[in-house]
Amino acid sequence: MLDEIVNALNLRGEEQRALHQKARALTIKNVGANIYLRALIEFSNICKKDCYYCGIRSSNKKVSRYQLSFQRTMEIVENIYRAGINSIVIQSGEEQSENFIKEIESILYAIKDRYADDIRVTLSCGEQSKECYHRWFLAGAKRYLLRFESSSEKIYNTIHPNNNNHNFNARLNSLKDLKDIGYQVGSGFMIGFPGQRIEDIANDLLFLKMLDVDMVGMGPYIEHRDTPLYARKEELLSPSERLSLGLNSIAVLRQLMKDINIASTTALESLHPQGKILGLKAGANVVMLNFTYSEYEDKYSLYENKSKARFASYDSVKRSLEQISIADQSFIIDPKQHGDSLHYKMK
Ligand code: SAM
Ligand code: SF4
Repeated sequence: MLDEIVNALNLRGEEQRALHQKARALTIKNVGANIYLRALIEFSNICKKDCYYCGIRSSNKKVSRYQLSFQRTMEIVENIYRAGINSIVIQSGEEQSENFIKEIESILYAIKDRYADDIRVTLSCGEQSKECYHRWFLAGAKRYLLRFESSSEKIYNTIHPNNNNHNFNARLNSLKDLKDIGYQVGSGFMIGFPGQRIEDIANDLLFLKMLDVDMVGMGPYIEHRDTPLYARKEELLSPSERLSLGLNSIAVLRQLMKDINIASTTALESLHPQGKILGLKAGANVVMLNFTYSEYEDKYSLYENKSKARFASYDSVKRSLEQISIADQSFIIDPKQHGDSLHYKMK
């Protein structure tokens, strides 16, 4: 199995196109032709972690830190609702203070209050206690994204500092807690960072299957000059190789897990102007549109050349959807769909 996956990840040219076409056909057959939209809010760049790859790691003193106020967040939620999108992702750096937990909780209750069941919320706010995950679940969050970054503890330890804040097993425990509570659980990993081999990516894909996740967000690693991993830039594969590996990973995963939601991640777009569409053509069925105001764009710089595309209105969303629809006649986009993971619903 591992060899087969490695072979598939290495396909290029005509064979690669065939791999992607097969994955798209499998997507249509198993989860339908729909492309689901997620509106992204980058809620805070305050993070206590120091991941070696991430531009907003706590040691990067060049970053000016922010947390959106309750009012600002609700204003963006209203923009999203008016733009006709019913699914929101709230993402942030990692913080476990009671203030932070309460703020997210209040936002979740306010969304539930104002929009009832119209809006589905996904959280991506890092590792938290089981109690915190439970509070947020009761307040209305029903999906949670937490990447394991690498399924090998040894490799995980090469891209994170060696301290209690960065513990591979704690990460896996968090994923277990989320599942126990009843969340639709999403995970994933970075593709093509220094020191990672093709075999490691194949193992990561098999690990997603073993975890039995409902959603996946995995994407190419992109360097950031103010991070420790930047020192290993010379070891990196070319951007087009990382793009190919990212797309082939999506296509292989679609064969391994036919009924899950797979995101065509923003990092693909940083490597190729059509990256998001290429991801959808390779078997992904979810795209994120960033609704965070442009004034925060430089402050949430995870990696270089991160997409600056911002959405605020129905018209801006419509223009983007038209581009996606033109790219492939098979894409059906209804922004109002919640797009729950079929895999989760079938459990
Ligand atoms: N702090 C939360 C966490 O880590 O789960 C959520 C926000 S974090 C910015 C979201 C994801 O960004 C991480 O899981 C990581 O995979 C990705 N990321 C960070 N730095 C990156 C880089 N240089 N290239 C590609 N992806 C990166
Ligand atoms: Fe913080 Fe997440 Fe970046 Fe790690 S990846 S430094 S946890 S924001």
